Amino acid sequence: MREELLVYEINDFSLNNDELMLNETVFHNANGYIGIRANLEEGYPNGYDTIRGSYVNGFYNISEMKQAERLYGMAEEKQTMVNVADTQSILLQLGEETFSMFQGTILESKRLLDMERGFTSRVVKWRSPKGKEAEIIIKRMTSFYQLSLFTIEYSVKALNFNGDIRFISGHIGNVLNYSNPNDPRVAGESFVHILPEKMEIENQTSYITSRTSKSGLYVCTGVTNLLSKEGANAGTCTIKKEENSMEAVIDSSIQIGETVTLTKYTVFADTIRYDDCKAGAEGEMKKALSLSLNELYDRQKAFLNSYWKNSFVRIDGDDGLSLAVNYNLYQLMQSVGKDEHCNIAAKGLSGEGYEGHYFWDTEMYILPYFILTNPDIARSLLEYRYKILDSARENAKLLGHKKGALYPWRTIMGKECSGYFPSGSAQYHINGDIAYAITSYYLATKDIDFIAEKGGEIIFETARLWMDTGYFYKGRFRINEVTGPDEYTCMVNNNYYTNASAKYNLQWAVQFYYLLIKEKKLAPIVDKIGIREEEIKEFEKAADQMYLPYDEELKINPQDDSFLEKQVWDFDHTPKENYPLLLHYHPMYLYRHQVCKQADTVLAHFIFEDFQPMDTIRNSYEYYEKITTHDSSLSACIFSIMASKLGYVDKAYDYFGDSAMLDLYNTHQNSKDGIHTANMGGNYMAIVYGFGGLRLKEKGLYFAPKLPKEWKGYEFKIIYEGSHIEVKVTKENVIFTLLKGEAKNIYVNDKPYELKDSIVLIMTEV
Ligand code: BGC
Repeated sequence: MREELLVYEINDFSLNNDELMLNETVFHNANGYIGIRANLEEGYPNGYDTIRGSYVNGFYNISEMKQAERLYGMAEEKQTMVNVADTQSILLQLGEETFSMFQGTILESKRLLDMERGFTSRVVKWRSPKGKEAEIIIKRMTSFYQLSLFTIEYSVKALNFNGDIRFISGHIGNVLNYSNPNDPRVAGESFVHILPEKMEIENQTSYITSRTSKSGLYVCTGVTNLLSKEGANAGTCTIKKEENSMEAVIDSSIQIGETVTLTKYTVFADTIRYDDCKAGAEGEMKKALSLSLNELYDRQKAFLNSYWKNSFVRIDGDDGLSLAVNYNLYQLMQSVGKDEHCNIAAKGLSGEGYEGHYFWDTEMYILPYFILTNPDIARSLLEYRYKILDSARENAKLLGHKKGALYPWRTIMGKECSGYFPSGSAQYHINGDIAYAITSYYLATKDIDFIAEKGGEIIFETARLWMDTGYFYKGRFRINEVTGPDEYTCMVNNNYYTNASAKYNLQWAVQFYYLLIKEKKLAPIVDKIGIREEEIKEFEKAADQMYLPYDEELKINPQDDSFLEKQVWDFDHTPKENYPLLLHYHPMYLYRHQVCKQADTVLAHFIFEDFQPMDTIRNSYEYYEKITTHDSSLSACIFSIMASKLGYVDKAYDYFGDSAMLDLYNTHQNSKDGIHTANMGGNYMAIVYGFGGLRLKEKGLYFAPKLPKEWKGYEFKIIYEGSHIEVKVTKENVIFTLLKGEAKNIYVNDKPYELKDSIVLIMTEV
């Protein structure tokens, strides 16, 4: 059963250009270190558009940020994830004919992603223009066991002919990133980011060492091609050097019924992780070749086996949705950085949308998933934020602050990379988001050492920044001229979300201060950043007096001070094709209206639910739902969670479905540029926090289960304070089972229970 729910396949796949580009994303292979788009090895015909890319997480170049007016402090440079090399290219020649899906006849075709075994494959039965029939199976893997390794196993079976067979396997160094001047969500112009410097051939392996044009980084790719016939080595291989690329030509012969297989190994090594990237690539290639391909596949499967043990989510009664949710969870594992040098990009490693930048998406949408299923990964994501804390301090200075740290809105290695500050650097809430994520990690793990070593320092520095940004006015602490999550409303006073997250950040700075004293772990932080009790008292006062806008008439929290004074957007006269609005209206026109791109106050009500009574939360949800376009992929999942909380389970179900299918159905029309990792994490939250009603609170772990009428049930597992807990919801019961670890106190609809072995509650009574 599990197996079927972990295989996504398309039969007779379309060769339409848009579909091909979408599938380059959907079937990409990645492992958190490298990501390879699923381009056809042989390429497309001339005139077809493609994003042919291979990326290394955290590996970036610097390019100029063109600002029409050079105002003080505006970003002048940006960091961009680099397309490092093309090692996907393989041409297959059967005699004098070259395989192409666009010539001859496709008798059968299939693309498949096997998430249990960790590979993708393309299966094609092809008849050449001259009548040769062959079955071609191409299996691709980015290894979780060896993160530097990408393999292509390219098998050809002759169905009705004997003759010569040749593979031309490319290793191309002069590659470009994708650009589109008409879409603000990808790079606007073409730019040479990487230059091949050295091309070497050693022991039948080609190595290209390339240098970025400005960031001073190097990456080396090594490629080895091995040919086998029914298991035995077969054929000759000649490697030719050309300008900036190399090509291995492998010749053999094939008989009817016989299968010839080319296995292509690529390894990547960069100077962020290796002192000498060429030596690194050599070592990695040696390691890769020391195991057989089948052994590498076995290790991939073993890795995923243990991954799914904690992560698999089952929806009983809807296999399509189960598959979609687990597809999303697989992509999160493919995308997430596995070391402190990197994070998880808005598009993972699947494409170049947002130029590979990391946003608040990580902390608010993705970390909640890793915190509950893979706390080590969660910790490493937070360690990355610690690594760039000094850059955040610099950024704060640049923006005129006298103290504290301000995290960049979008970045790779710490520099602010947003060009348009109103919907970029002005999103100060990123500080509160990071503080919130650290607190959630702590609440789920009680890892006080992390707080003492790294997390506490971040929380104090972000708290300081709020003190420097806001001020006390008529007994209230106010924060002016910032942008909340909703990017259709920019540069406002007292954005509810921002003020609420600042309050939480300040409250927890106070809590952690006293906790660290109690644990006798505060001294090193005091030595380093001089945090004192007087400052903590100020934090406390600001948190207590934080101004959280409230409208007496509507009984809602207005998004900001002036939001309700604006004209409501004319939705009735907005044609369907004008969505997303950001591609059809000037930003100022949007700012002048009440229209939301995404959940803003509604998100605040989810994560800071104790700040408001239920009536205000309900009224606000109903108000904002009418004026939210969900043009951002970060929105539907939050509305689903809040609809669940408010008991609108049908609505929650609909929003959940939109979120689950977003990339597989390309509902935002831009999945060609990459997956939407925040939505993928949000989709998980819509089950666990939404239908499951989970909340991490100081008092303990809370649940409030609901079940959509379309489902028979659902189940998921979480790790809480080291204990593994399974939650199963059916029409009849809610069953909590302690799978591993110590007994825990849990709350179900606010009623306390001790979870020792298992608790079975009757659904209608919870
Ligand atoms: C959203 C942001 C998000 C960014 C990257 C934008 O469209 O408005 O909230 O961080 O995409 O996913």
